Amino acid sequence: MKSLGLKIDLHVHTCYSPDAVTTLNEVTYYSKKRGLDGVAITDHDTLAGALKLKKNRFTVISGIEITTLHGHLLALNVATPIPPKLDINETIQRIHESGGIAVAPHPTLFYKSAPSLRTSSYDAIEVINSAAIPFQLFTCLNQKIATRLGLPQTAGSDSHHGPEIGAAYTVIEADPDVDEIVCAIKKGATIPMGKPIPWRMRLKGEALSLKRKI
Ligand SMILES: [Zn+2]
Ligand SMILES: [Zn+2]
Repeated sequence: MKSLGLKIDLHVHTCYSPDAVTTLNEVTYYSKKRGLDGVAITDHDTLAGALKLKKNRFTVISGIEITTLHGHLLALNVATPIPPKLDINETIQRIHESGGIAVAPHPTLFYKSAPSLRTSSYDAIEVINSAAIPFQLFTCLNQKIATRLGLPQTAGSDSHHGPEIGAAYTVIEADPDVDEIVCAIKKGATIPMGKPIPWRMRLKGEALSLKRKI
């Protein structure tokens, strides 16, 4: 039986990303606290944290935020790492070959390595990214792009600090099974929801990330 509307944050970084501080335990803790049904772990160019967390019973989509030659790209439901710094079309092809889907994250955020829109192979567009500033403007521009391209719309927090998890999430009409969830995203059975990360929380996250880098 279909359970209407799983709430999944489709863009979560953990301390396996060099610029994030969220531990795997914090991912589980904050996801439950925010009432999420699951998350996609999308660390920068590594699957390590996602695969480790996947051993829990909590619904975890193993993803990567890949640094391509033409901007960032979210790969969702991949079992093996996809190398960075490849042409975006080749990267998308590799994602598809490994059974995953390719989502264009923050497509209009020029200051955040926005992915090139000169490819027609995306499976979905991330229209809500809680780290976007100004949030309303970029959400509106992203939605226009998704509508123009006729692609499904997703949302994710792009959190790098535990409490930011769930600031945005995608409501997905699917059973709580990763393959079904990804299939539903591809079919467009999604509703993007969310708000910007509050300033105080964002500043705290930035400070912790800076402390980690020093
Ligand atoms: Zn990014
Ligand atoms: Zn990100």
